[in-house]
Parts: sequence; structure tokens; C-alpha cells
Amino acid sequence: MTRYVFITGGVVSSLGKGLASAALGALLQARGFTVRLRKLDPYLNVDPGTMSPYEHGEVFVTDDGAETDLDLGHYERFTGVAARATDSVSSGRIYSNVLEKERKGGYLGKTIQVIPHVTNEIKDFIRTGHGETDFMLCEIGGTVGDIEGLPFFEAIRQFNQDLPRGQSIFMHLTLLPYIKASGELKTKPTQHSVKELRSIGIAPDVLVCRSEGPIPVKEREKLALFCNVRPDSVIAAQDLRSIYDAPLAYHEEGLDQAVLDAFQISPAPRPNLAKWNDVRDRIDSPDGEVRIAIVGKYTQLEDAYKSVGEALTHGGMANRVRVRAEWIDAEIFDKDDVARQLEGYHGILVPGGFGERGTEGKIKAVEFARTRNVPYFGICLGMQMAVIESARNLVGIADAGSEEFDDEAGEERCTPVIYHLKEWVQGNHSVTRKKSDDKGGTMRLGAYTAMLSEGSRVAGIYDARRIEERHRHRYEVDTSFKAQLEEQGLIFSGMSPDGKLPEIVERPDHPWFVGVQFHPELKSKPFAPHPLFADFVRAATEISRLV
Ligand code: GLN
Repeated sequence: MTRYVFITGGVVSSLGKGLASAALGALLQARGFTVRLRKLDPYLNVDPGTMSPYEHGEVFVTDDGAETDLDLGHYERFTGVAARATDSVSSGRIYSNVLEKERKGGYLGKTIQVIPHVTNEIKDFIRTGHGETDFMLCEIGGTVGDIEGLPFFEAIRQFNQDLPRGQSIFMHLTLLPYIKASGELKTKPTQHSVKELRSIGIAPDVLVCRSEGPIPVKEREKLALFCNVRPDSVIAAQDLRSIYDAPLAYHEEGLDQAVLDAFQISPAPRPNLAKWNDVRDRIDSPDGEVRIAIVGKYTQLEDAYKSVGEALTHGGMANRVRVRAEWIDAEIFDKDDVARQLEGYHGILVPGGFGERGTEGKIKAVEFARTRNVPYFGICLGMQMAVIESARNLVGIADAGSEEFDDEAGEERCTPVIYHLKEWVQGNHSVTRKKSDDKGGTMRLGAYTAMLSEGSRVAGIYDARRIEERHRHRYEVDTSFKAQLEEQGLIFSGMSPDGKLPEIVERPDHPWFVGVQFHPELKSKPFAPHPLFADFVRAATEISRLV
């Protein structure tokens, strides 16, 4: 039997609903249950693939090639359960499915309405994979009261009615603002938010309240009384030092117990929190600190590279050091000296990115790392920058560049060592793309296999010859330049199984220099740091101890 927990938010956005959902998932697992987490987003984009990282943060990619909300990254990092395309949906996708069905005559001439057609489409989405896990946690994006969110709220209200009693509950996350002048935590916004929910037929079973400090008994009782929940179902969510403290902190506040009580699961299985205690211990007692420079484009918003930052933290945990990641805007190198900016870092990372802006600065950062023997980790665009740098400065192709930077008319402005891929193999079928294809659909997306060369650094790091990693890119390194680049020490140590697409480059003559065409950060977890991040931080730690 699958039980459903619907997670909604009120009062303000950015309260950490995704984190609360992920932490609850981890706690249910710790009690021996299987879980899956889902995100339902009210915005009208069909998927976040075409949204600016400034608008929506990072695009998280699943193994099966979906471009999803970054909350799915939290879910994976906390539960270790690989997200699927069917774990994320937006209003845009729902409406587009409904309209497509309508055009195909799927509704037999009926008038198409929000209720029941749109709500049914949402319920079908929620029901996907019913029976596969003990719990399904569905987070509704946005805040109660948003116009776009209404069909989702109506759908979960109906879903709860469709199921036998006791098989689904509602958890609502709100904010208790602290008023300094009177020294009080205010419950009124939460009361209003719950009132709003109840007006659309949803009565929360568990209230999670973000607050700066503990919730005094008086306020807890007041919330319980006015919001019609049990006092021990009012859970305090205080600000945390590290997000990875969330499972233990929520457990200490009684969240998992409150959820199991709401389902009347009794006696509740005892939790095994050893994994999360180890995580807390590693965060609490680091032995030293390493400084990593992340040279990128979207540096004003950390969420734009959410998974990279988290994977570095995990790499630090693997080595029991604290990683201080600093974001440097690549464009600064147009004006300022690279050496002045990058001096003193123990490692340099160039993450993924799109478009030409900032790329010359990134190439300078690669050159600095290569010539100064600073550990270098290039991810996706960061690998392409490493290839261009060697092509220009070592092979002697002065105008080496990427087709991505050609002007709109497609006029070549460089010798492309990185080219636009139009046909490739995924598993046992081939995929073709045209430049004119829809924006969302022109990329190599999702999990692909790479074969690692025997004796290479990466084969040692992974301790494997065959790996699977997630991709999200249009352009590829051109193998026509492979021999020349390898002669200059840039070795192609990972290739697609058919030998056509370079997946990894590395420099054996350097303390640590690896470029990967995929996104390893998407698969890293605090309790299972990604081997590349763990080893990159290890190399950076060695450098930090030399000086
Ligand atoms: N813009 C590059 C490409 O499309 C790199 C993409 C990325 O870094 N994710 O190939």
C-alpha cells in the first residue's frame, strides 16, 4: 500500500519546503520504509529547461533525461533514490498534455474544463507508480493562495477523497515571524494561511513552522487550537547551520513521529539514524579548510550551481575538511589580472554553462590552473574550455573555439574544436537533431555510459572501467584533434562506448586536471560523495597542506 503525504506552503515562499520534504523522506527511510518524492510546480513553463538560472536556479537532470526543478536534487541527495522524469511536473506540462489530448479528440467532444480535465491529469500524474513504494511525498510548489496553484490544491483535495481513509495526509509549512519589539513569535500569518487552505477543502494534519528560535508551549497550543491540529503535530523548524542537519533536527522535533501518528502507524518502527549522525559528525569536526574558486557566469545566485556547491561540500566531508567555495565571475578577467584573482586557491572549478559570455575568462582560468599546477576540475562547458585552452596554447590553433560561439547567422568565427552534435547513440538506438528543433529538445540529456581507459587517473578514482553519468549539453569535443591534443599531454581517458564522443580528458603530468562532459555533481550525496569531487577535494587538501 502506498501512503501519500502532500506538502504545501504558506505565508511566504522560500521557507525550505523542498528541504523539509527531503528530510521527511530520509526519516521515513531511516524507519525502514521505501519512499519516492515528487514536485508539482504551478508555473506555466513546460519544464524549467528553458528558464534562466537566475529565475529558477539550476536545472536538475534525471537519469531518464528530464530537465526538472532543483528540488529533485535535494530529494536525491537526502534519500539516494534516483529521480525520474515522472517525478516533476508543471502546470505548463499538464495543460499541454490536456490540450494535446483535446486536439486528438481524446475527450470525445466534451467541453474541457479545469475540473475535471486538468485536475484528472494532475491526479494521473500523482498516481504514476502507485504501489511501488510505502510512501509517496508530493510537494506543491508556490504558496497557498497563488492563482496558478489552485488546480493542484483541488487535485490533491480530490485525491485524498479518492483514496481509502487514512491513506493520505497534508503537511503545511509556514513561517512564525519574530517581532523584536514585543519579543514574540507571531502565529497570525499561519492561522490565516491554514484558513485559506481550509477554505479550499484541505485541513492540514501536520504543521511545520519555520522560526528563528524554539516555539514556546503557549504558541504551540495556540497554533494547535486555531489551526485544528494536535499540539505534537506542530513542528518547529529552526534555522540550521547545515542543510544536512535537517533530518536529525526534524527528528528531534518529532516530525517523523507526527507523520506516522497521523497515519496511525503504531507501533512506529524505531529509526536508524547512524548515517545522518555520521554526516553531522563530519560537518561538525572538519580538520582544516580548503578554498575552491568556482569560475562561472551565474555567480550572483548560488542556486544556479546548487548541485556543484553541494557536491563540493560532500567532497569535503569525504576528506573531513571544510570546503570554502568562492564564486568568481569569469568576466572579471576581461579587466583584471587572472593571477591576482586566483592566487591562493587550492583548486579551481569551471562548471557548466551556456553561451559565449565569460568564456574567454574561463579559458584564462584553465591556463592558470594548468601552468601553476593548481587542481582543475572542468564540468561540461568547463571541459570544453580545457580543450580549447590546450588547442590554443599547446597545439597552436590560435583561433580554436566552439561552434556555440558562432554568430546567429552561423558564420564561423573560429576553428571549432567543439562542434554541434546532430546524431548520436543512446543505449541501442540513435538520436538525431536539427538546429531548428524546439529549444527544449536539442540536447544530449540524461544518463550515458562512458568507458574509461585502463590505467587512467579517472579509472583509478572511480575504481571502474565503465560508468554512467548524466548529461545536458548540445556541443561535443571534436575527435579530429584528439591525436594533437594527446601529444600535448591532454589525454582522452573516457569515451562513449562507440568511441565517438569524448567524455573525459585529463592531464597525467599535472597534480589533478580532469574535464568531464557530464555532470557528476548531480549524483553526489552527503553519505556517498561523488568519487571525482572527493578526489578533487583530496588533491586540493594536499595543496593546502603544502603551503
Ligand atoms: N554549452 C555547452 C554545450 O551545450 C555546455 C553545456 C553545459 O555546460 N551544461 O555543450
